[in-house]
Amino acid sequence: MVALGIAVLAAAIVVVLLWSVASQRSWKARTPEPESFARERPASTSLRAQLRRDVNAAIVPDSWRFLWRHKRRHWFQGTGCPPHRLSQEQYQKLSAAQQRGPVLVATSVDRQYWWWNDEFYWDNGRYSADDVRAVVLKNERQNRQRVEQAHMALAAGKDPARHRRDAIPEEVRRFVFQRDGGVCRSCGSRELLQFDHIIPVALGGSSEPENLQLLCSTCNREKSDRL
Ligand SMILES: [Zn+2]
Repeated sequence: MVALGIAVLAAAIVVVLLWSVASQRSWKARTPEPESFARERPASTSLRAQLRRDVNAAIVPDSWRFLWRHKRRHWFQGTGCPPHRLSQEQYQKLSAAQQRGPVLVATSVDRQYWWWNDEFYWDNGRYSADDVRAVVLKNERQNRQRVEQAHMALAAGKDPARHRRDAIPEEVRRFVFQRDGGVCRSCGSRELLQFDHIIPVALGGSSEPENLQLLCSTCNREKSDRL
């Protein structure tokens, strides 16, 4: 009787162990479905190497549990990079190192995928970590400069729309003045004449003679009140 009990218990333990091994094997063989952006793409035919921030890229954890046993791994996917497995150890090492500088996470066709300060990048120029650091910093500096220049141009009143309004060439002024006979097109007055844009510049009107007319300041004000 006791012997039978031991045999049943032993059989049960063997079944559980086999089950655990089988389930871990199937977990290990399992690969996540690639996202549509992660499909491999042909190598670039351009001669110019580039480095881009990859906003699609992410690392997603994936774990296996059986009774008290627990295993974890991570999958990297990037634009043009199908799921790439990282063991728990690799993941921990990379995630600490990317706080200090760019680290290579994966490669796919002609691209290398980098992780730095919680952002992902890819390059197709076989860059080194130092190259990636230099290019990313240069791009950020240029972006900041572009924003500053835009603010300065706006503050100086040099935005394109305002610039165009002031710039009716002298010969166009003379032509319009003669064509309109030197009088207001609306009331015939010869006082305080101004060049009026028939379709306002703000609505896309040009400074060509066909879009210009002479108006006295009173009629011009009335017209802009109507608009
Ligand atoms: Zn008038």
